[in-house]
Amino acid sequence: LYQSLKAVGLQHHYHRKSSEPRIWVCVRKRPLTPAEEWRQETDVVTSSGESCVVHESRAAVDLTQYELKHRFYFDHVFGESCSNEEVYLKTAFPLVQHMLQGGSATCFAYGQTGAGKTHTMLGSGVSGAGPVRSGRSRPLLSPLSFPALAHLTVFVSFFEIYCGQLYDLLDNRKRLFAREDGQRNVHIAGLCHRRVDSVHSLLQMISRGTDERSQGSSGVNPVSSRSHALLQIQLREADQTVHGRMWFVDLAGSERASDSRDPDRRSRMEGAEINQSLLALKECIRSLDQEQGHTPFRQSKLTQVLKDSFIGDSLTCMIANISPGLSSTEHTLNTLRYADRVKELKGQTGQRRGRRVKNISSPKQNLSQGCRRHSGG
Ligand code: ADP
Ligand code: MG
Repeated sequence: LYQSLKAVGLQHHYHRKSSEPRIWVCVRKRPLTPAEEWRQETDVVTSSGESCVVHESRAAVDLTQYELKHRFYFDHVFGESCSNEEVYLKTAFPLVQHMLQGGSATCFAYGQTGAGKTHTMLGSGVSGAGPVRSGRSRPLLSPLSFPALAHLTVFVSFFEIYCGQLYDLLDNRKRLFAREDGQRNVHIAGLCHRRVDSVHSLLQMISRGTDERSQGSSGVNPVSSRSHALLQIQLREADQTVHGRMWFVDLAGSERASDSRDPDRRSRMEGAEINQSLLALKECIRSLDQEQGHTPFRQSKLTQVLKDSFIGDSLTCMIANISPGLSSTEHTLNTLRYADRVKELKGQTGQRRGRRVKNISSPKQNLSQGCRRHSGG
């Protein structure tokens, strides 16, 4: 694991003591979509290595425009030209190694609807091999290869959580129920675990579940933006005991969590549910890095079914997906603030770690041509 973490520059996550991080948080900026380019939308995000800056334009009292720069630091920031294969190396790859060694790991895609969560985690519309057209992608797990697994077999399950209810995406959206047993382990009754014998058939399962998910969509608000999709891969021993496991979670659109003014009662309920689950998720991930204490996983269905991810020697990677466009600035900042709080650690292990979002500079400058130039320059 050390070698694989070192290969991708995350070796400081090895030799974890209880006070050291088991989480890494990355940001992925998507390119402007063709529609945004057509509208000549401004790209307000610059990214480089470990930092990203959001340029926000504001009007001063005297109506001149000035720019606020919001700078954030993360373990890694993927720019718009990064492919899923590059993202895989720094996000999923170390998790896969951990699973192969018998560990448990989770990778989340967080962000506003349209920011690229599904593109990153599950791919958009391409299954298996073949050339990838621009704007389309294969699932994050496409570069996966299982080294000699010897006695281990691979199982996959895939389900959706919508309004606190679970639906199996590999079994005709069958309704599922999460139950806690006497030992407080959470089981999902009836969940279909499909055995896969190659990466190719794993990718086919992902594509099948993703199709099932989008079929439930209707109108302007696709269900996929209001539901969490959870893919689990298990490595099992010959006697069916679980050797290692990994979750890939395509979270519901984070903007839904703040949609409390929606006139539609159902949308408001959905929003409240999403809000609750994303808050619980943040608290649960943060508790991974605390020396002891309470993990509030019962606060939502999402965190309840992911309970294993928040205890023991589990590794977590969060990918915060952001849109680059000016019209998304507010949601982009919200996403980066959420990711920043997930990353913010109790034991400060580095100068940059745990630093809160700060407006590093606010040089007054003219941003739009219709405004008076501010003499301060
Ligand atoms: P979300 O799941 O967060 O709602 P999607 O993954 O559906 O967002 O992405 C929205 C659109 O942007 C899709 O058309 C997708 O193909 C495109 N897109 C997202 N991320 C990228 C990327 N990194 N490169 C190219 N296109 C992208
Ligand atoms: Mg999506």
